Parts: sequence; C-alpha cells; structure tokens
Amino acid sequence: MASNHTAPLPTSPPEPFQTGTGKCLTVACIVVTFTLLVCACLALVLAGALGSGYVRITLGATATPPLTATPTSTDTPTPTVTAPPTATLPPTTIPTRTITRFPTTLPTRAPTPSPTPTFLLTPTGVTFKFDDSVAQSERDLIQNGVALGRRSFGDVGPVTVFAYTDLNTLITEMARNNRLSIESDRSKDLRRRFENYTWSAAASSGAIWLWVSDRWKTRPREAKTRALIHEYFHLAQDARAGRVGSKGPLWLIEGAAEFESYRVMANLGQAHLSQARSDKIIQTRGLLNSLSSMEQLTTAEVEDTGAPYSLGYLAVERLIADYGGERALLQFWDEQSKGATWQSAFQSAFGISLSNFYAKFEAYRREQFPPYCGAVQTARATVSPTPTAPSIRFDRRHPPGALALSGDPLSASPNIPYTFCVSGFPLTALTEDQKRTSYKTPTGVQTWHSCGGNCIILYMHPSASPGEYTFSIELSDGRRAETVFQHGNNSSTVTPRP
Ligand SMILES: [Zn+2]
Repeated sequence: MASNHTAPLPTSPPEPFQTGTGKCLTVACIVVTFTLLVCACLALVLAGALGSGYVRITLGATATPPLTATPTSTDTPTPTVTAPPTATLPPTTIPTRTITRFPTTLPTRAPTPSPTPTFLLTPTGVTFKFDDSVAQSERDLIQNGVALGRRSFGDVGPVTVFAYTDLNTLITEMARNNRLSIESDRSKDLRRRFENYTWSAAASSGAIWLWVSDRWKTRPREAKTRALIHEYFHLAQDARAGRVGSKGPLWLIEGAAEFESYRVMANLGQAHLSQARSDKIIQTRGLLNSLSSMEQLTTAEVEDTGAPYSLGYLAVERLIADYGGERALLQFWDEQSKGATWQSAFQSAFGISLSNFYAKFEAYRREQFPPYCGAVQTARATVSPTPTAPSIRFDRRHPPGALALSGDPLSASPNIPYTFCVSGFPLTALTEDQKRTSYKTPTGVQTWHSCGGNCIILYMHPSASPGEYTFSIELSDGRRAETVFQHGNNSSTVTPRP
C-alpha cells in the first residue's frame, strides 16, 4: 500500500544521501556504506514515454489507457522459452546502430508498438522473492523483464530479485542486505524515496528491488518491463567494471540504462526510439542545468531529480551515434575493470575528452532543444533551496500536439500546450501528490506535465472559451503565485500580465 503523503511541504530539496565513501547519487544511484551501489528508477521519468503517474487528468477524463492494447499478462503462459544461458558477457562487437547525426528536426511520432510478447522467459541464475500478495501476472512480468535484461546484457552472476507489495518488507530486506539498521537515517531515506514515488525499483550488487505498489500495478506493461531492463543494465555496468558500484557520471550511468532499456524494448517492437527521444526532449526543456553539472546527485537534484535520466538519455544517444556506438558504451565500463578511472575510460572508449564532449553536447542542445526558461548555466544550482517568494510566468503557446508525450493521449493534438516557468521555488521539492494539490489549473486544462526543471506544461482543450485564464500554484505554507494567459486566439506572442 502506498503511504499517505502527509508530510509537510518541504522548502528545500531533499538532503543528499551522504555516504561514508563520499559519493552519492540520488534518485538514480546512491552509494550506501559498504560501497553498495543502489540504482533506482525514477518512476515519473522512466514511465514518461509509456504513460505513468505523471499524467494528470483534470477534466473528468477517463484514465489514461496504456500505450498499447497489451494482452493481460501471461496467466496462461505459452510454452516457456528458456533464456539462452549466456555464461559470459556479450562480446563487444555489437554493430553500431545508426542514428541520424544531430537531426535538425524532431522525428515524427512513430506508430503504436505491437503488444508485449506473451512468451515467458525463465532466466537462469536468478532467484525471485515475492511476497504472497504479488499476483501471478506480476510475477510473470517481472521474471520476463529480468530475463530480457539477462538475455540482452549477459550473465552478471547470481541475481536476486526482491519484489514485494509490502514496503515494510522491502525496506527491511534492503536494510538487511545493506547491513543497515531499519531505524537508520539511510533506511528511512530509502523508504521516503519509494513512498514519494521517486523510485519504483532499484538495483544494487546482485539484487534488484521492486516495490509492487498500487501505482506500479497501474503502469503499462511496457513501462514495467523496461524498468526491470533498466535495473538489470545497472548490474551489467557493475559486472563489466568488475566492482560493486561502477563509476561514472550520473548522467551516463542513468542515461545508458535508460537508452539501453529503450533499445531492448524497441528491438521487441515495444517502444520506438524516436518517441523516447521526443519524450526526453520535452522533459528537458525547462532544465537550466548543464550536462556537466549532473555528474553527481547533489548538483543535479537541486533542480530536477529526473534530469540525469532525460538529458542523460539524449547525451548517450549522441555518444552512441557519433562516438563509437554500443561497443564504445560497453567499453566505458570494461575499461574500468582494467583499473582506468572513469574519466580516462571515457576518453579511451569514446575517443573524445569529457570536456570536449560537454561542449559539443551543449552546442547541440542550444541548437536543437534550448530551454524555455532561460539559458543553460554551466554553474550548479539554478534554483535557490531557501524559501523565497515563488513566481510564475507564462512562457509560450505551442502548436496543438507539439509537446505530446507518448502514453498520454490527453497531451496530443488537438490539445494546445502552454508552457510556464516557475522561479523562487524548486518544483522538485514537491512530490507528485503535492503538485496535484498545489497546481490550480483553470477549467479547460486537460492534463499537465513537467517539462523538466521548473517548467510546467498545461494542455488546454481547444474548445475552451477564448479569453484570459489564471494558473496558480498554492503551496501548503501559504505561499502563492499566479499568472494569466490568453487562450482562444491564434497569437503565439501573448504577453502575460505582470
Ligand atoms: Zn537507474
């Protein structure tokens, strides 16, 4: 069961996960004591392209249907297909995929993927631990997702998958595995991250942790399968690097897990990389952080915990397209097993220095998807964590369907997207539930999404009455901000009221 979100509204970003070893990667990866690396999925970001709790329906619309007409699981599994027991990591001779080099236009939206295959893979060398409440259909899906990861990324040694409906049991197991006290701050922090739905799953040395929450159950099958593949890729990163807690910048660790999980799903016909790319771009349009500021959690988290996933995805896409393909990506972790630092591994794997890549990527970003809310800043922390007076300003009106996210038909045409920029308050300090409470959207708004950082998209129904509309944010501590925008004329240069 999900816990109630009764916690007071935080006025500052969550505390970074401090560790004895110094490194601490938030939503994504945290190094707990004993150098245990925990990599977690960010439910909102990971599911962004395939429908998720991100979707906010405000006009009495029906629940967002999943992306595809997926079959209802494998209650009657077809003959079991045993995953080929890959005894070794896959060779690094994977052919380089072709991605259009720095395309100048966004790809058109691809057709709906075909349903998830009904076959059930049985991964070898993987132990599954479920509590009694986990339905057979969920067990099949989880098993299948892990098997797909193992088939795609190879044997990473013994793996245990903990999937519980009861969060207490999950946290207790995680604490025991990490040799933490259940009462420790770290255990409480783990719990908080799951409860706030920042995490849906996590990976650590030889283990995948999954909370089979009510929200998890409502997610589309493709999103859940992909989340498991994402986590499995983290285990492969560790296996290749030859150590628990492989090294690298957060954006690369998470961006690679994101990209690879989409790639596997795309190969199965369950996702389209063009859609994923389009979604990731939408999710980064409000970000002002540079890619280089996302090497660690502490800086990335200030603005948006999802940033290393979305911007990281786009950066990894560029690395693969222009700097050596999948082979180079895997080589980055292989080099570390030979003792290379991650910085030198980056240079030798991709053939470009980190600083040069950063410069090239930011130039590409400026040209292809510059932020709505200002210029990219190379320094860290663009949002003050200290409470100030929040303000919100209308940014612009977009063509109908321009910012459509896959998995959310309400964001698609004919609805009209309007973007807004918030300042003086970090939206990342709000849980999704708190956002639902705080965002006061006018009638006619079909749904809303984050566009990364302090950016919000409202999707207005085109038939809403023409005129002025007010969008306000009301925080639980009484602070409030509002702005007015025009709807119903064709002007895209509406000026907000001061
Ligand atoms: Zn991850």
